Amino acid sequence: MKYVSFEMNASSSFGVLQGDRVVAVASPFQVLEEELAGTRGYPLSMVRLRAPLPQPGKIMCMGRNYVEHAREQGVEPPKSPVIFAKYPTAVIGPGDPIVLPSISQKVDYEAELAVVIGRRGKKIAESHALDHVLGYTILNDVSARDLQFTDGQWVRGKSCDTFAPLGPWIVGKEEIPDPHRLDIELRVNGDLRQASNTRHQIFKIPFLISYLSQAMTLEPGDILSTGTPSGVGVFRDPPVFLKPGDVVEITIEAIGTLQNPVVGEER
Ligand code: MG
Repeated sequence: MKYVSFEMNASSSFGVLQGDRVVAVASPFQVLEEELAGTRGYPLSMVRLRAPLPQPGKIMCMGRNYVEHAREQGVEPPKSPVIFAKYPTAVIGPGDPIVLPSISQKVDYEAELAVVIGRRGKKIAESHALDHVLGYTILNDVSARDLQFTDGQWVRGKSCDTFAPLGPWIVGKEEIPDPHRLDIELRVNGDLRQASNTRHQIFKIPFLISYLSQAMTLEPGDILSTGTPSGVGVFRDPPVFLKPGDVVEITIEAIGTLQNPVVGEER
């Protein structure tokens, strides 16, 4: 099952994909058979896809969760998970513009596999962690490096409006038996900048779900973003940052492609 959120005729709804058609549903967390029966829905080409969760709950992010990304910044791979947050107001959907805020000169991209929580839980055992997963999608952990590093604490630089492109859909976990075997790539204007595989993640998804849930209740609609591989702009030589007119495209195997243009902030 692929879960979407979409706009059609000036109203918006959750939906599921049935072939090349979108069928509206009340909630992605409990799709009822009667919602799918007897309706043909809308052609996918006629709806505007929004972020599959336009207003998610917690966005829990992993820092330095790929060995080569730790190495490119000259630090040892972490011994325990590096956790930070993005605020949900940063979320935008496929095709929506990433707006470069005037308070930053160093906006960067980060391709990430995102896990969508589908069932509430606290102190979840690693062996049952995937029972709490609805599915997987793509998140671009857009980051204002100047704000991130001068604050000494990452939340502001990671949470500017439009800094969490999400989508294009959530692929149900039943379609992805092993989320640690997916090619992940990011291109800027067609130029390949990041290319790796989720097998290189240091802390794996079941461990992370269990680890986080020892501290806080996980709820449907929470997102766990699993970190980015090497190749981000700030650690390139010379560093390169996003500019108006760029197009950022992230592709993850078995999920699809999330594409967003980059624009400057109107003053
Ligand atoms: Mg990140």
